[in-house]
This record gives sequence, C-alpha cells and structure tokens, in this order.
Amino acid sequence: MPDLTPAPDAEILMAQPRGFCAGVDRAIEIVERALERFGAPIYVRHEIVHNAYVVADLRRKGAVFVGELDEVPAGATVIFSAHGVSREVREDAARRGLHVFDATCPLVTKVHVEVSKLRAQGCEIVMIGHRGHPEVEGTMGQANGGMVLVESVGDVETLQIADPSRLAYVTQTTLSVDETREIVAALKARFPEIREPKKQDICYATQNRQDAVKFMAPQVEVVIVVGSPNSSNSNRLRELAERLGVPAYMVDAPEQVRPEWVAGKRRIGLTAGASAPEALAQSIVERLRELGARQVRPLDGIEENMAFPLPRGLLPTSAAA
Ligand code: SF4
Repeated sequence: MPDLTPAPDAEILMAQPRGFCAGVDRAIEIVERALERFGAPIYVRHEIVHNAYVVADLRRKGAVFVGELDEVPAGATVIFSAHGVSREVREDAARRGLHVFDATCPLVTKVHVEVSKLRAQGCEIVMIGHRGHPEVEGTMGQANGGMVLVESVGDVETLQIADPSRLAYVTQTTLSVDETREIVAALKARFPEIREPKKQDICYATQNRQDAVKFMAPQVEVVIVVGSPNSSNSNRLRELAERLGVPAYMVDAPEQVRPEWVAGKRRIGLTAGASAPEALAQSIVERLRELGARQVRPLDGIEENMAFPLPRGLLPTSAAA
C-alpha cells in the first residue's frame, strides 16, 4: 500500500490575497439584507455568485434561485446576480412589476456603460470572454447587435468587421491576464485602429489573485484552488498554476481533496477564487492537516481594502436619508 501522507514536515502556504472580492461581498450582503428587510422568499436570478457553498447557505436563509424571471411571481422581490444582466432582462423585470435589487458588480457595470457609449458612437465591439458565461451574456446584452465574442487568438483570425476604423474591444472581468494579453495583441495586429478600454477591464481582484498564484507557484509542489466548477476566476487560477508547471486541483468541499495529490509533498499551496468563502478555505486546511500537513504559512501579498456601496433601499435607514 503506497504511503499517501504528505512529507512529515509538510507546510501549507496560503496565497494572499485569496477568496472573496468586494463585488462578491456586496452581492451576498444585498441578498442577506433583502431577506432581513423584506423576509423570505427573496428571488435571485441566477446563482448570486458562482459558489455552491454560498448558494446553499443563502438558500437555507430563504433565497430562491431561479434561472429566468418567468419563475418569479408578479410583484415579488428579485435580485440580479453579481455577473450582471442584459437590458432585455431589466426591461422584462420592469414589465412584470418586480421589485429589483441589482447586485451586478460595479466593475461589470462599468463595462456595460462602456458598451452602451461605444454603440451610441456607432462602433462595433469585440468582447473577449467565455461563451455562455452569464457576465458575457449580460454585457453583450447591452448592445442591440454590433457586438461579437472572441474566446481565443484563433477566433480573431476569422472576425468579419464592417469598418475596422470604428472598432473597439471590451473584456470579461475574470479572465486570465496572460491569455487576454495574447488575444488583445492579435486584435491590435489585425485591426491597428481598434479602441481599447481606458483601463483594462480585468478587475483588480482577478489580477491580484493571479499575481498571488504567480508568487506562490514556484515555492510549492502542488496547488489547491478552492472554488466551484462554474467559477470563471477560480478556473483561471488553476490553469495559471498548471501553466507555471505545478499540478493544480480545484475543490469545492474538504472531502474532495485526494490524499494522492499531496502524498510526499513538503509544500502545498492553497488559494481561493473570488467567490469562495474563507470558511471553506479553512475547512480545506483542516482536511490537509488530517492528511498530515503540519504548518500553515501565510504568504506576503497585497492587502485589499476595496468596498462597494450597497444599493439605495438596502442601506441602514440613517445612511439612506
Ligand atoms: S471578481 Fe471582480 S468583477 Fe467579479 S465580482 Fe469580484 S470584483 Fe467584481
């Protein structure tokens, strides 16, 4: 029987920063406050953030997650998820007389505003992102046509653009910084006049978590990413560690950590996607301890202090005045 325990002096190195970003914090707080203020049920269109643990916790408290607005009774309170929604969904909610709180991350809203402005100026827009991701659907749904999705450098080669002198690009906020750079370079090579966003759309939290993995990867023999399979930014963290030559696995619960991943390893890296709670990361630490890891060492990294305001109507009464 092979020995599947980590090396006797095995350490867990904790990436900094990891876990919740300001947009996720805000989205969860919006659901919790709406439940407090209006009582259950509160409907939430789509998973509020892509994390099974968070969704299960809010469901227990009285949130009802729906795929589409036709599942929400007329006049009920509905919350749009952090990923944002298309104009059509917003209009549909108004038509149905729903009481809406919008948990779209302000950094996603910034991209929505950019898309609307560019379309008003008559530009065609390329969106760099992943097909089927709700953020991409929401952002592309800000334009009535004139917008095309690219997922890879290969897609750039086949683009058909009516007027390359009136072309711009935007990106999904949670992509890999490196891959996006390659696609942007391909776009600029093919369409030298393409307009760029004033500031990269990849958000600070995505950038910081990817930088933390770059710092951690050379110091460890395996990386464990805490995140749900549908979380874009968690998937990018795992891919990044692998690109840096370190085996990497994504887990959503402690029992998913397999002993053979850490067998004989002296340094185990741990990080968490922007939608994964610290309590879940700590339960993975406990699991690694059970498997034989001895020490936990937080790594140096950026201390984030970003916070986004809550929507009016959910602020404490004195602050709303
Ligand atoms: S990952 Fe970035 S864009 Fe997404 S919710 Fe967090 S801060 Fe907002």
